[in-house]
Order: sequence, then structure tokens, then C-alpha cells
Amino acid sequence: MCRNKLSTRCSPNISPPPDPAGAMRGLPAVHRFLSEPRIDAFQALLGNVAVKRAINDVLRAARSKPTSQPASFQTLLEHIIARLGEAQAASLVSVVNATGVLLHTNLGRAPLAETALAAMHQVGKGYSNLEYDLVEGVRGSRYAHVSRLISDATGAEDALVLNNCAAAVLLVLDTFARGREVIVSRNQLVEIGGGFRLPDVMLRSGVRLVEVGTTNKVYLSDYQAALNAQTALLLRTHQSNYEIQGFVSDVCAARLAALGKRIAIPTVEDLGGGALVDLSRYGLPHERTVLEAVADGIDLITFSGDKLLGGPQAGIIVGKKSYLARLRNNPMLRALRVDKMTLGALGATVQLYDTPSGITQIPLYRMLAATVDELESRARSYRDALHGERLRVTVASTLAYTGGGTLPLAEIPSRGFALEVEGAAAVDTARKLRSLPTPVVVRVQEGRCIFDLRTVEPTIDKQVQQMLVQHV
Ligand SMILES: *Cc1c(COP(=O)(O)O)cnc(C)c1O
Repeated sequence: MCRNKLSTRCSPNISPPPDPAGAMRGLPAVHRFLSEPRIDAFQALLGNVAVKRAINDVLRAARSKPTSQPASFQTLLEHIIARLGEAQAASLVSVVNATGVLLHTNLGRAPLAETALAAMHQVGKGYSNLEYDLVEGVRGSRYAHVSRLISDATGAEDALVLNNCAAAVLLVLDTFARGREVIVSRNQLVEIGGGFRLPDVMLRSGVRLVEVGTTNKVYLSDYQAALNAQTALLLRTHQSNYEIQGFVSDVCAARLAALGKRIAIPTVEDLGGGALVDLSRYGLPHERTVLEAVADGIDLITFSGDKLLGGPQAGIIVGKKSYLARLRNNPMLRALRVDKMTLGALGATVQLYDTPSGITQIPLYRMLAATVDELESRARSYRDALHGERLRVTVASTLAYTGGGTLPLAEIPSRGFALEVEGAAAVDTARKLRSLPTPVVVRVQEGRCIFDLRTVEPTIDKQVQQMLVQHV
């Protein structure tokens, strides 16, 4: 599974021209490099054409250099491997995440469960009833399939799925508040990363932001004082990636929802993370769940599919049926819609929440459930496989994080190992690890490369060990 290249290859039928000149200048022939295991490992990823091109490029460069002494086989080999590493970095490939950050946004957030992958395969390989009502034989809704599953799992009246959570927030603002006012507490004016700043999003949505309260203290009376005929929404944002501590006072969601109901103005909560289970089961601090937001009476709740839900990239809106109907009628929805494979994967992921054993099939929760003892014994197996003259490997205590802008302060005790390579600086080793046939991303701490095993799937341990022995 490690070696799957995700992008398509270019035409495999164009072979590079033969290179008799190389041999003439005393340079090794192309086939000698092709049979090198360290080069061969790249063939599955990049394809034969790209590998031969890299070899020929390096040989051509060596030939054109005006030196009396031709470069050695070993030197050329290293140059070719460096070039192959660069070629790989330019395409979408799977990597080993040894950072210990479970929902690493730069590394694609949540890995998918087997059933979610199977659903994508099933829906992708042929036709489906995506927008077809099989009972009536007429056009149906692409959202119907998964809406029901999400409503059941969250206790909400209705659900809608879009491209991502940012899109969900945009659609809500555009539908209910364009040209009008949205009240937000000053302790929730968040930037969630990737340039998504709540005040900017509001501006772009043609919504007037009305800030109430102060950074540390907000009261219900602050909201009440800001109400007027232009008020369209009361918005709460989950403080998913920061915390305000000390002398603080906040308005709880249930009270805000009650106020909204009393004055007939919808309340919205942007949850971001989207947990469906209580994370304190995994030794983490309690994280507000979607079910709690629904139970508090919030009218519309937005969250991501690929954060604490552990599914594909998606934005989910759950809430009151009549409000969801208005969102469905917004023509903008067409531009934010999700494809069939996302719907398949999301539906399959949500279904896993039906049973405790289903939840353990979601990679995120499997990784969170791994015990420190299990991780330590795996770390020892890495040490035994790798430790030697050139490689110094020690078992290490580490701290893992959920990442993806969720639970920023929660440290998860974890285990892994520290790797030092004889004569090499840690940053150079880390760079080399990133250029392996399956790139490995590690943390560099105190001059050592730290591998956190909580984010490494145990089924690939042997493969990773072999690759490290062979290439590092
Ligand atoms: C992550 C996050 C978003 C954006 O979610 P995407 O699915 O990445 O678009 C929005 N709001 C909050 C509070 C978040 O944490």
C-alpha cells in the first residue's frame, strides 16, 4: 500500500534514445543503474520512462563536464537517486506520517476506513443511483443517501453535505445573512489556518459582522444589546485551535440557542472538528460533540468530514429541517457540491459509528486507542531492525497531537524512536527520509529525527524497516 502512486503516469511507450556516448566516455551503461535496488524501488512509483530519463539526464550532464576522470558509479548513483527524489516530490504520492500529528492537514488529514475505501471503489467503478430515485424511477437527490445516516448519527432533523466546512459556513452566511448583520462574540473571531478568517469570510459573503463582548468576557446581555431589525444570525464558533484562560466568562450554547428561539433568529455553530464520540474515552479532554450542539438546540451546525469524524474531505451542515430546506434552494450549492465518491466514503464512515467495533475500524480512532505499551514494543522492533554501526536508534517517549486545528493543547502520550545517522546532521537525514521511495515525514528535535509510531499503521512496519535499512 506504501508504494501506490496517486497521480497518473505519462505515456509509457516513449523510450528515451539509446546512449552509446555514455559508454564511450567510460560512463556505466543505463541498464547497470536500472538493476540497482535503490533505483528499481522508484520504478513502481514514477514509471520506467521517468526513471530512465533521470538516469540519462545525469549521464548526459556527466558527459558534458570537461574532466579527465569520469565520475564513479557510486557518485552517479547518488545523483540519480537525488533526481528521482525530486521527481517524486513533484507528484502526489503516499507518505509515511511519523510526525505523531494524527490529522495533519499538510499530509491529507484523516486516513479512510476500509469500508469507506470500498464504497469509493464501488461507486467509482460503475454507475450508481447518485441522483436517481430507484423506487419511482425519476430524478432523485444526491444528498438523500447520506443525509439520513448523518441525521441518525447526530440526532439532527436533517443534514447536508458540501465540499468542506469552509464552504458550509459560506453557504449558511450567504443564505441567511447576505446584506444583513451577524452577531459574533469577540472571543470567537477565529482564524482557522489556510487563510480562513471569520471576519474576512463575512466580508466576502456581504455580511456585516457585529462584534459583541470582549476578548475574555461575553454575556448574554451583550448579544441582546446588539439585536436589531437587521440581525440575521447569532453565530458561535468553536474555539477549536486556541483557548482563552484566566478571568473569562462565556455564553453557553444552550442559552444562546434559547435566545435565538425567543426572538426567532437562527443560531449557528461552526464546530469545525465534528466529533461524534466523546474523546475523553481516549484519554483526551472532552471535546464538544455534534450531538451536544444539536441537543443544546443550535439551529444549524457546521463541521468537517475529515477532522474528528475520520472521513473524507467534506463540510457537513446539520440542523433544523426548514432551515436546511432554505440552504438546499441556494443556487450556490451547485458550486459547492461533493462528488459521488466523497458521498460513498462519508456514508460508509458515518455508518461505522453505529457500533463500538465499527468505531475501531476508523483509522483515527484506532490510532488514538493504541496503548503506549503497544507502541513501545513496536519501537523496540524498529530499534532491533535498524540499530547498527551507521544508524543509532533509541526508543523514545513522544507526544502526539490530534492536529487539523482540533484540541491544540491536548498532548497524547506516545512512543517512537530517535534516529541518528553517523556523520549526518538531523535536518539532512530528515531531508533524505523525505526523498525515499515512500517518503517518511518525521519531526526533528534536539538534533535527532523523531519517529512517532502512533501515526504509522502497524501493518506497514516491516516495509518501512526494510526501506530504512536499504536506503538510509
Ligand atoms: C477546520 C475548521 C473549519 C474549516 O474546515 P475545512 O473542512 O477545512 O474547510 C471551519 N471552522 C472551524 C472552527 C474549523 O476548525
